[in-house]
Amino acid sequence: MSVFTHPDFDAHEQVVFCHDQASGLKAIIAIHDTTLGPALGGCRMFPYVNDDEALRDVLRLSRGMTLKSSLAGLKLGGGKAVIIGDPHTGKSPALLHAMGDFVDSLGGRYITAADSGTGEPEMQAFAQRTRHVIGATPRATLDGSIASGDPSPSTALGVFVGLKAAVRHRLGRDDLIGLKVAIQGVGHVGLGLARHLKEAGAQLWVSDIFDANVRTAVEELGACAVRPHDIYGLDVDVFAPCAMGGILNAETLTTLRAPVIAGAANNQLASPEIGAELQRRNCLYAPDYAINAGGIIDVYYQRVGGSASQSDAHIRGIADTLRQIFERAAASGECTSVIADRLALERLQGGEQLQATPHRLHA
Ligand code: NAD
Repeated sequence: MSVFTHPDFDAHEQVVFCHDQASGLKAIIAIHDTTLGPALGGCRMFPYVNDDEALRDVLRLSRGMTLKSSLAGLKLGGGKAVIIGDPHTGKSPALLHAMGDFVDSLGGRYITAADSGTGEPEMQAFAQRTRHVIGATPRATLDGSIASGDPSPSTALGVFVGLKAAVRHRLGRDDLIGLKVAIQGVGHVGLGLARHLKEAGAQLWVSDIFDANVRTAVEELGACAVRPHDIYGLDVDVFAPCAMGGILNAETLTTLRAPVIAGAANNQLASPEIGAELQRRNCLYAPDYAINAGGIIDVYYQRVGGSASQSDAHIRGIADTLRQIFERAAASGECTSVIADRLALERLQGGEQLQATPHRLHA
């Protein structure tokens, strides 16, 4: 396994391999860039088939967090953690405490949060060993009620407002009544997005590899269930990927028909060239880390103690960011993913110039 010469290394500041023999913990923490602030990103637990797969995932995800926070205008750097193991059977208090100790050992350079395979209970276990964790304690919501620190409802809201901006740009319509949307993956974010869309009058098609999630969407929202592979070829207005990464690839592009792609999944493009191919086909792609930033914005306000209304306004601003990306792409002929990267890197470089000290950690 190469690290410094890994194709996804991309000048990471720090990569930490964590092993605790007693609990069996094997994990990797990747800190990509702390120019704009401490590296904040979720801790994913997944049964990776080998260490290389885990390393690739954590490097790609942590770089994505740098770009996501930069584009969203947050004073946060990019980082991510992965625990190698089955999230259904592999968790023990000792393993989670060992992970919390590793996070703590970085002294705040990396701050963790929930991700796929982890949630509030795991954050609470980490919090017994480190203060560098977010999402372990309940907080007030916009309507004054108290909710868990889970950021996925905020991610779903951000995707919803971003999807509306994409529909307005590509299809020239402001309302979603009768709009046909295919959602791949109706888990935490996908189901939240489906609820917003249903309320706005859209028609829904859903797929998931977990049958109970499909049933919920069908029974609660009247969605139409389709088999996982059939979701790509539907004659719909919007395809919303809300499951896993890499799903926009040479194979799926042969069947994809939707003129708009707007969903929550991270790392949707299997390679950068796919972004250009979508552009060539007049398919409007909402760059993943731009549209799915609602969760990190929520987590940021939980960290700094901001109000629910500040967080809500910032999340709704995702629509403006996307509008800017779509307009620039239309004017220059470049693809939306290239424009998003450029905007994110410009802010990052601006932040770099403000940093006088070689050690880039913010308090
Ligand atoms: P989740 O695990 O709750 O939901 C994912 C769903 O996708 C599950 O129901 C799973 O069964 C389903 N799925 C997996 N493979 C599938 C396949 N091949 N076809 C159809 N369905 C499949 O995760 P989530 O928190 O809802 O996150 C969804 C995506 O959004 C992930 O890529 C995640 O990285 C990204 N994301 C999540 C957040 C957040 O706040 N949770 C924030 C930003 C990005």
